[in-house]
Order: sequence, then structure tokens, then C-alpha cells
Amino acid sequence: MKTLSVQRYLVRVNGHVQGVGFRPFVYRLAHQNGLTGFVNNNSEGVLIEVEGDPECLSRFMQALRQETPPLAQITALDQELRTPQFDKVFTIHDSDCGQQASTLISPDAAICRDCTEELFNPENRRYRYPFINCTNCGPRFTIVKGVPYDRSLTTMTCFPLCKACGDEYHNPLDRRFHAQPNACHICGPQVQLNDSQGRAISSQDPITHLVSRLKEGAVAAVRGLGGFHLMVDARNNEAVQKLRIRKGREEKPLALMAPNLQAVRRFCETTPMEEALLQSPGHPIVLFNARKNHDLAPSVAPGFSRLGFMLPYTPLHHLILANAFQALVMTSGNLSEEPIITDNEEALQSLGSIADVFLLHNRDILQPCDDAIVQIVDGQPQILRRARGYTPGPVFLSEPGPLPVLACGGQFKNSFALSRGSQVFLSQHIGDMDHVATLAFAQKAMAHFQQILQTKPEMLVCDRHPNYLISKWARSQNLPVVEVFHHHAHLASVMAENGISDVCIGIILDGSGFGPDGSIWGGEVLLGNFHDFQRFAWLQPMLLPGSSSAIREPWRLALAALHLALGQEAKAVSLPGLNNIKKSDKAMIFQMMEQGINTPSTSSAGRLFDAVSALLGLCSHSSFEAQAAMKLEAVADSDDDGLYSCHWEKGPLPSSTLIKAVLADLTGGVPIPAISSRFHKSLAEIFVAAAISARTIHGLNRVALSGGVFQNVFFSNYIIKILREKGFYVFTHSKIPCNDGGLALGQIAIAHARRQQERRS
Ligand code: ZN
Ligand code: ZN
Ligand code: FE
Repeated sequence: MKTLSVQRYLVRVNGHVQGVGFRPFVYRLAHQNGLTGFVNNNSEGVLIEVEGDPECLSRFMQALRQETPPLAQITALDQELRTPQFDKVFTIHDSDCGQQASTLISPDAAICRDCTEELFNPENRRYRYPFINCTNCGPRFTIVKGVPYDRSLTTMTCFPLCKACGDEYHNPLDRRFHAQPNACHICGPQVQLNDSQGRAISSQDPITHLVSRLKEGAVAAVRGLGGFHLMVDARNNEAVQKLRIRKGREEKPLALMAPNLQAVRRFCETTPMEEALLQSPGHPIVLFNARKNHDLAPSVAPGFSRLGFMLPYTPLHHLILANAFQALVMTSGNLSEEPIITDNEEALQSLGSIADVFLLHNRDILQPCDDAIVQIVDGQPQILRRARGYTPGPVFLSEPGPLPVLACGGQFKNSFALSRGSQVFLSQHIGDMDHVATLAFAQKAMAHFQQILQTKPEMLVCDRHPNYLISKWARSQNLPVVEVFHHHAHLASVMAENGISDVCIGIILDGSGFGPDGSIWGGEVLLGNFHDFQRFAWLQPMLLPGSSSAIREPWRLALAALHLALGQEAKAVSLPGLNNIKKSDKAMIFQMMEQGINTPSTSSAGRLFDAVSALLGLCSHSSFEAQAAMKLEAVADSDDDGLYSCHWEKGPLPSSTLIKAVLADLTGGVPIPAISSRFHKSLAEIFVAAAISARTIHGLNRVALSGGVFQNVFFSNYIIKILREKGFYVFTHSKIPCNDGGLALGQIAIAHARRQQERRS
């Protein structure tokens, strides 16, 4: 009679379920519960047919949802009853290698705890093996050539498995069952040490040799997971300065790696949420508040109160840091803002004048991928750079798009995106498109995404800017192109990320974007949805004397701000912060503004931050993007409760009132940190006033925030708090960047909406 109680289920599991140990996990669960049937990979994800006692089946189903392997992510799971087949055993079937239309390639994952223990266990056969990995960790995206995810389609294909590794690979009960990058000392990739001339340095233990060179103060170039890093001992100021000079990187803060959480706590004040983020499978760089008296080299982040730390995410990093360093500077191995270098030969050529010693390896990196950067804003992660550990994880739209679209993103901090149904795949951080090398990188990565996602775009979407290199490229392709205004894309991006499509209020604040009136926008209150938008309010435009040179020389913006606030009287103002600027240079700028020579105007909020930073004497020349604004944020006194009164009812939002108030405080001897705080808060209040007005007139109560200015934690936390106090529902970014790195998602949402509208009419 027992057979009567047998049930059989067909279970479909979608999401990140391939190449993450999902089938062996199912196999183990079935065995534990005495069930029979099979599991296999198919084009949708994982397919299970399982039968047995109904109670055992329900335990199996519960565990399937609750005990998924660390790297697996289930996006959909459904089950239906089937006729029992009375199978005798449970088996794992090979991948169904047919079409792979909706499978997902996992992001690269940091080394897991089990592998770390084996790495440092002298009894283990992989003791100190720099490429140890298993199904729960290791490289994925950076080594994959195509789908299905199988060793033959990765850069591991040139390393035939030895007997021991092969046994693990074929054993469903082993942690390394179908771990495609599985390898060991005998069969896998190896490291090699070279000098800056490219000559091999013979050494019994290249890693120990490298550590001793780093201890002496050498600059090392180390081939990692997604590309090369340049490393120096972060507590050796001379070494850090040497790296800065050789790389031509004057002041931009440098990323750091600490051997463990305890070391990070020693240098930074950490919160539980930041610590969790630091240790999440992606192991991003997390921005922390630095402790006041930390003993890192002062030149690591001169003048900044925040430090970017990550933990070792490959076995190689562990071997370099363990018992040797409390912190290493680990900056991308590239030239200025060009793409990160992945190739051994290219590294030796391009970084030969920067690094004293090179640690190379022979596991090829197929896709360059920088470290991701994340911070906490309003109790949520905010991604500043979406790359290793996140790419190519999709963002899900609330409904499937009508056709596959490739969105080109913007000119700076570029990231493109490809849509497939309701999934949008944002590329890794590509970089600034003013380098030819970056455009070439983007094109290669675009082809790669189409390959691994098995998706050909039928439509392109680009920024409306007439001169963005990537937009020009899009227009030259043989596909329909949708052109989207920059700030509309920002608004659509935060809406799409949060799954909202009804008209809402967008407060979009950034450095610059091409507006429909042909001027440069960036301090905008928009009303819109994916289909359309209107400009409800904007910051009073300020002049940009010298156009792009004004961005590199914020002192020019300080004069423009004075000119906006005081008109002719601006020339008579003398500020200590501008004493280092020659009189004749100042006169030239005033002349340019009066005669309109190379002086466009902009409503940009980012430029207003730059101007105030320069007025306060914090930054007159900027060696990297957003430096002036970051310095202004860094000094803000959170305990000051002053606020400027900047009444607004209609017309342009009153930047000039704000600037006058800053000047009054400055001449009245108010400390700079207090002025900075008041400026941040008062600017936020101005935008909140505009949102309230939009609500009164249009009955809207949702506010979406986007644009690079929201990377400013002080400003973001304040404006979010005030908006909520006023009863608004506030939507922000947490899965993709608020800066131009997130534009492509908005571009996709707009292109989908346009195509749907076209079809309807
Ligand atoms: Zn592992
Ligand atoms: Zn082996
Ligand atoms: Fe922007």
C-alpha cells in the first residue's frame, strides 16, 4: 500500500542557479530525504523531478528554498504534480546544452571560509596554493568565454585536471563537484615574479619574495582576478608617495586592503552594516569613517576623513597580507583613467615605469573588472562603482521589455546595459569615454555580453548629447537608435530600480548633462515617468568661465558664484581662500564672464558645490573629479544647527541667496565647518521646498533621487530625512550607482516604454 502515498513533483528553479553548486545541493537534499528522481540544468535554470513520501517531499521543498548554496540566488521557483515514475535512485543529469536563453553567469566571488582554511593548513594538498577555489567561491565572470558555464568555455581550458582534482570535479558529494576553475599545485595556474625589465626573478617562493620587497618599500604590480593592482605598504609614507608620483595621481584617495576585519577596525570606525557589506560575497571596497589617529601613511587619503577598505578576496591576496601587513594600498593597475590592465605583456610594458616588481600568473583574465566601491547612505548600501562581485548580476524590471535593447550609458563613469525580457544586465564599470582605449574596451565588453547572454540587441539607446563619443558610436551603427536626455535617464533609472512607473517628482542633481534647451543641466526638479518628463524647477544658472577648465579649476567657479550673487560688486571682494590666484587671472575671468567668451551657463548642483568649496578656500584646483565637493563634505560640522533662509516660491531656485549667506558667514568669522554644514542643509531645503510646491500643484507624493551629488552622504542623509518628515515617499538607488554609472538602466526603461507606445499607436 506504500506506493499510494508516493508523490512526484516537477520543480523549476530560476535565477543564479548554474555554476554555483545548485545541482549537487539538490542531490544531497534528495538523498537526505530518501527521494528519487533527477536534476538537470536547462535553458531556464534548474529543473528537478523528485518523488517519494509527501512529508519527505515537503521537507525537501522547504530546504530547497531555505538552505540554498552561498552563491545561488533563486528568483523564481514553481512546482507542479506529476505522475510517479517509481525511479530507484536520484541522479544528476548533464547540462542540457541546447539554447541557454535565460541562464545567468555568476559574478566573481570572494574566497570562501572552507578554502581559506585549506589554504593555511599545512596538511592540505592545496596548502598555500594561490588559486584554490570551490563551487562556493572563485572566479566566474572574469574567466568565462561563453555559455553554458563549463570549463571548456573558460580560460581554465588550458589546464587539464590532475587525477585528484578530476575526482573532486566528478563527485557530486564533493565541494568541488563541477567547480570549473578547480585546480591545484600540480595541474593549475602558477605565479611568477619578474623585475621591472620583464626579467624573471628566480625564487623558491615568489610570494614570500614579493612580501619582502613590499616591506622594503617597493611598488608591486600584481595580477589579480579582474586585472592588475599596484600595491605598496600603506603605512610607509615614502612608498605611498613614490607610487603617487610615478602614477601621476596627486591627491585622489587610494583604495586599501586589510588582512581581516580586526585590522579594518583598527583604522576605521565601523558599523555592523558596513562590516556585513565588507564581508559580503562580492567583497567590495567599503568607505568608512577613518579613526582620528590611525597610523596609515598620511598620503593615502590626504585631507579626507573617509577610507576605502576591502578584505582579501583571492587566495593570492591572503598569502600576501597574512602575518605581513596591516594594510596595503591596492589601486587599479592602469594609466591615469584608462581601463585596468589584465594582460602580462601589457602590464610589463605600461606599468614598467611605475612598479619595481611584478607578480604575474598564467590564468588569463577575459573580462577586465575593477573593484566595486560601496558606502552606506540612509541605512542602505549605495554603490558608487558597480564592478567585480556585482557584474553580471541583473537588475529586474517590473515587466518584460518588448525587445532586447543595448543602452550605451554616458560619457563618464560609463557602464552600458543589455536588456533581456525583464532582466537588465549592467556592464562592469567601463570608465571615462574620453580615452580611445576606453571606447575599445566598451565595444569588446558589449560583444562579450551579447555572447554570454545569447542576446542580440534590436535597438540602441544613447544620451542625447551631440558630442558624447559613445552616442556618436551608437548613431553610426546599423540599428534604430533612441536618444534620451541625460536627466530623464537619471530619473527613469531610479524609478526602474524601485519598480515604479507612475509620474513622480525627480530631484536630479549632478555635474552636467545636456538639456533639451541646449544648456548644461544638473540641478533639476523634474516631473516624469518613462515616457516623458517636464522641468518643474531648477537651480539659478551660474556661468562656467572657460567651460571644462572651470571644472578643473574651481577658483573660476568661485568667481562665477560671486558674479551671480553680487554682480559688478564681485570684483571688489577679496577672500583669503582666493589669495593664491593672480590678480590678472581673476581679471581675465571677469572679462570672460562680462563678454560671454567661452562661458556657457549651467544649472548644475555639482558646480555649485565646487564654487562654495573654492570660496571657502578648500580647493582652488582640482586634480580629480568631485575633489572640491568631497573636500567641502569632509569638513562639514554635523553638530552645527544653523540654516540659511532661502525663501523660494517660483522661478529659478535661489543659488544666489545661498552664496550671499555663505559670504556673510565667511566675513563674519563663522568657522568653515559650520558654513559647509549650513550650505549642505540649506541647499537640501531649497529642493525640498520645490518638491512641496510640485506636490501642491500636481498632487504627487513620490520623490525619486538620482545623480552623482547623492554620493555626498551628508547631503543625502539630510535631504532624505527632511523629505520623509514632510510626508514624501523617497526612492533612492541601492542596486546601481546614482552617478552616471547607472544611466544605462534608465535609458533601457525609456527605450522599452517608447517602443511599447509605438506599438500601441
Ligand atoms: Zn571555496
Ligand atoms: Zn590538480
Ligand atoms: Fe549625470
